[in-house]
Amino acid sequence: MTGPYFTGQQPSSCGHYYPDVLRLRDEKRADGTLVRIVDCKYCGKYQFPLDPSALDEELVRELHQKGFVVGTREEEVEKVRKKALKSFTK
Ligand SMILES: [Zn+2]
Repeated sequence: MTGPYFTGQQPSSCGHYYPDVLRLRDEKRADGTLVRIVDCKYCGKYQFPLDPSALDEELVRELHQKGFVVGTREEEVEKVRKKALKSFTK
């Protein structure tokens, strides 16, 4: 099964769905653009630009202060994926 895993779920920019696509990290680039780095089970690791106006204010503030915000640690990707999938199939 490759999703969607629940009604109304929106795919990531590659067309796959959480938790096949997990957010690894959000970063602020030197030129000020915000990017999200994700890990897709099917497409591998990729990044796409974020629209700050569509983001949580708290997250944008943290990005400007720290330069990056960790989502899922890479060594925990499989664990997080399995846990999320399990919760969908209950
Ligand atoms: Zn994908």
